[in-house]
Amino acid sequence: MRLDITELERGSRLSADVCVIGAGVAGISVTRQLIGSGLRVMLLESGGADYERAIQDLAAGESVGLPYYPLDETRLRLFGGTSVIWGGRIAQMNPIDFEPRT
Ligand SMILES: Cc1cc2nc3c(=O)[nH]c(=O)nc-3n(C[C@H](O)[C@H](O)[C@H](O)COP(=O)(O)OP(=O)(O)OC[C@H]3O[C@@H](n4cnc5c(N)ncnc54)[C@H](O)[C@@H]3O)c2cc1C
Repeated sequence: MRLDITELERGSRLSADVCVIGAGVAGISVTRQLIGSGLRVMLLESGGADYERAIQDLAAGESVGLPYYPLDETRLRLFGGTSVIWGGRIAQMNPIDFEPRT
């Protein structure tokens, strides 16, 4: 079931056993894995189906550490997350990707 929270009555409560925050590739993948597990799963996404500037502005912020592009241009706030601007390249996982690392 898909709900638009803006259409719910003020003060409404939603409950689930697991709440996944963010419908980007990570959140969608985790949610898909949990479907059928017997748990009640909720996937909570801050954006809608389409790009909206006011919601995208929530992604603005300072990036510390290694230099990176502006966050509000490289982290998309809508269903699908940043995958909506992907180059479409899917890299194969390597064994090291599944090893514990510091
Ligand atoms: C220009 C560009 C091209 C790229 N091309 C590729 C490519 O070709 N191949 C590849 O493998 N990778 C590519 N990447 C990298 C890839 O997009 C990211 O690694 C990937 O999208 C990260 O997935 P994620 O689910 O962690 O985050 P995101 O995809 O950023 O998703 C996060 C989701 O969480 C939501 N969210 C954030 N905060 C909240 C909150 N408080 N409450 C509710 N929801 C929230 C956001 O709206 C968003 O939908 C590219 C990145 C960029 C910028």
